[in-house]
Amino acid sequence: MNIDRRDFLKTAGTAAAAGAAAGCASPASTPAPAAEAATRSLGTGLAKGLTLLTFRSQGRDHLGVKTAKGILDVAQAAALLQMYAPATMDDLLQQEDGPSVQAVVEAALNGTVAQAAFRPEDGMEYGPLVSRPDKIVCVGLNYRKHAEEIGSPIPEYPVLFNKFNGSLNRHKGTVKLPVDLATNFDYEVELVMVIGKQAKNVREADALSYVAGYCTGNDFTARDLQLETGGQWMAGKTPDQFAPLGPYLVTADQVDPDTLTIECRVNGETRQSSSTADFIFNARQMISYISKIITLRPGDIIFTGTPEGVIQGKPKEQRVWLKAGDKVACSIEKLGELRFQLT
Ligand code: ZN
Repeated sequence: MNIDRRDFLKTAGTAAAAGAAAGCASPASTPAPAAEAATRSLGTGLAKGLTLLTFRSQGRDHLGVKTAKGILDVAQAAALLQMYAPATMDDLLQQEDGPSVQAVVEAALNGTVAQAAFRPEDGMEYGPLVSRPDKIVCVGLNYRKHAEEIGSPIPEYPVLFNKFNGSLNRHKGTVKLPVDLATNFDYEVELVMVIGKQAKNVREADALSYVAGYCTGNDFTARDLQLETGGQWMAGKTPDQFAPLGPYLVTADQVDPDTLTIECRVNGETRQSSSTADFIFNARQMISYISKIITLRPGDIIFTGTPEGVIQGKPKEQRVWLKAGDKVACSIEKLGELRFQLT
């Protein structure tokens, strides 16, 4: 990537971040300003070996990294170290700026100059992991036992649908149930893949090299809107706040996406407990297939389907839909536990 394009991306990212601050994902928040003490010069690439998050402080969303010394405020550390760093997770992903973040983290851990930029995770307020991906693509019916429980044949091709950015939600956030519209609310714990570089017509063998990282997500769903409004899915899947993600984005080098235990609990009771080894289409196949239809861009996210155990999968008379006050916890091996409450 040449200098002109890099400068353009930096400018475009900042402008887009300002726009996103007025949107649904983080209405009370504006992104932290980029560290201006130094300019970027480390090239582009995926971050490795990092556990990333977004935290909220003084009304702003900050890019953080989980370390043995606590959560590193990347922008604050960069300012103290007089280094450049992207301001937000979206900037990191969309500008393919792994090297800058990695350099700041290493410098902060290996010296004392950035000591003040570490803070305890206890009591921290989380922001949305990402807030302005170019696309949110979802794969439905992608676990064998889930397809069986709802009486669906095993699909021959990945079943695709989408959510919009207004559905993005955060760890420890709330989902306000649209009770005027629907009543049949259901959980779907899902592995979420975050794309790290542009992917078009990629081969299955190469597909995982396009992933920046993985996180825990919930494809929260209003089943009556999904299934009883003419058999189209989008309306039941993308109301505001219906896509909680987090708490962490774990870089792809640390995760095998096709062998992870995956669980969902409601008010402490285990409802889903499976493994991504039950995928019908594995991570490589999903990325390769989607990339043939649309160009995946850095920062795009892909929900990969939910395992068995959803409320919709129970016999009709045993279905007790989610309601206000319920607490949902989703966990995936290596990626952390995502919790949110319904109101
Ligand atoms: Zn789903």
